[in-house]
Amino acid sequence: MKILSHYIHGGLTAAPSDNAQPIVDPATGKQTASVALATLNDVDAAVASAKAAFPGWSETTPIRRARVMFRFRDLLEKHQEEIAALITSEHGKVHSDALGEVTRGLEVVEYVTGIPNLLTGRASEDVGTGVDSYGLRYPLGVCAGITPFNFPAMVPMWMFPIAIACGNTFILKPSEKTPSAALFLAELLSEAGLPEGVFNVVNGNKVAVDALIDHSDVKAISFVGSTPVAEYIYARSSAAGKRVQALGGAKNHMVVMPDADIYEAADALMGAAYGSAGERCMAISVAVTVGDEVADRLRAALQKRIADLKVGPGNVASSDMGPLISAAHLEKVSSYVGIGSNEGASVIVDGRSAFSSDTSGGYFIGPSLLDNVSAQMRVHSEEIFGPVLSIVRSDTLEDAIDLVNAHEFGNGAVIYTGSGEAARQFTRQISAGMVGVNVPIPVPVAYHSFGGWKRSLFGDHHMHGPEGIRFFTRLKTISTRWPKSKPQSNQFSMPTLD
Ligand code: NAD
Repeated sequence: MKILSHYIHGGLTAAPSDNAQPIVDPATGKQTASVALATLNDVDAAVASAKAAFPGWSETTPIRRARVMFRFRDLLEKHQEEIAALITSEHGKVHSDALGEVTRGLEVVEYVTGIPNLLTGRASEDVGTGVDSYGLRYPLGVCAGITPFNFPAMVPMWMFPIAIACGNTFILKPSEKTPSAALFLAELLSEAGLPEGVFNVVNGNKVAVDALIDHSDVKAISFVGSTPVAEYIYARSSAAGKRVQALGGAKNHMVVMPDADIYEAADALMGAAYGSAGERCMAISVAVTVGDEVADRLRAALQKRIADLKVGPGNVASSDMGPLISAAHLEKVSSYVGIGSNEGASVIVDGRSAFSSDTSGGYFIGPSLLDNVSAQMRVHSEEIFGPVLSIVRSDTLEDAIDLVNAHEFGNGAVIYTGSGEAARQFTRQISAGMVGVNVPIPVPVAYHSFGGWKRSLFGDHHMHGPEGIRFFTRLKTISTRWPKSKPQSNQFSMPTLD
């Protein structure tokens, strides 16, 4: 069976005879290939290649770097169907959803085709007599990205197009569950004319991650994944003196006000809660209704829509929702329906038995809907990362905001309302990094930045957009004087430049 290896110095490395683990199609439960697990030597080889490529690439003019990104962008568009098919075969999400993720990644590439403009510095004339000052941003060196299974193409493209366009070289460690898209992107970058060593992929697990963090030639770590691992990556990378951004898990709420269009809110919730089988860090997993009447109407509208939702393999056109990523994750998500029931929630739709289609062997579960969930229940306080939507009933907007703000995560939060006053109060008072008003999944576009608050992000910088440029560069401020006459004699006091 095929073994996917690493992409180092412009090509695939030889597949190892051992030290590999299976890749499984979640729609069938069958192994499709194996993925190599990088050793310390593999990581050293990737870092050496990226380090050797840095002087040449960082000295390549921004406009030439942009031209590579233009070509890469066109290749992404040309091959989007193949990339989406690879994602579906390893992740399980439906094809249209996989295509959407490729488009969101492609938009980051489009953003950095403007890198000469994005790197424009600030300049001031006459900061002192005859003294001019300007600030410019410089690349860091070798940067590394560690990414989760649920967006095999988009999340890597939150990172490497920005890093590379800024003049850095990059090593990607994708999820060992979904490695194929990353290797495909590496091939496309080479075809676009990216020099050898500027972009490398090492596959693997914690061994590869720790080796990247500990390597003295790696200057920055960009991470997306679960909160316990994000916290670990942040602590270990900071202790090693590295720049680090580590995005973690989430529990995103939609507050539904009495003046909202309930049918519109229900339609939005269907995609936001059950799209990609709930395996999105911006999935809405809690609907907080203001007033019992809203809860009753919303629940009825959701029940009707859930009955029409089709669960099936991601490569079948009629499927709305594919399988979960693994047997272990299926067991975990299933257990939460029982946990909710035992804690006193009303199980309105039980996804463990709510679908029928030819799904034998795959890790399928239907959508679940729980009502009368309270803040303390585990189905509310913990990230489930599956198609389980909870309704929490609150009496006022203030109570709803307090409930959202008390949660440990703060990735996204959304309000559905017809009132500008309620929307304004919500957007100002809510503790979350990405907020929507009548927008179900407020994922920022490429030229804004993506990131949460609280325990959904460790570090100072969000991803892509202006914050991405800042993360992958460092500032140098230069003051110049070209004196007409000879400088004055020695000065030992702090220069004031005036
Ligand atoms: P994960 O944390 O298990 O794995 C993420 C990456 O870390 C993988 O590359 C994995 O190989 C590596 N890793 C896992 N355990 C490690 C360890 N002990 N030490 C070092 N490296 C380790 O996450 P996942 O299951 O792949 O992805 C799902 C999680 O990612 C969810 O919690 C989801 O909310 C989160 N996520 C967050 C965002 C965001 O933007 N905040 C986006 C996508 C996914």
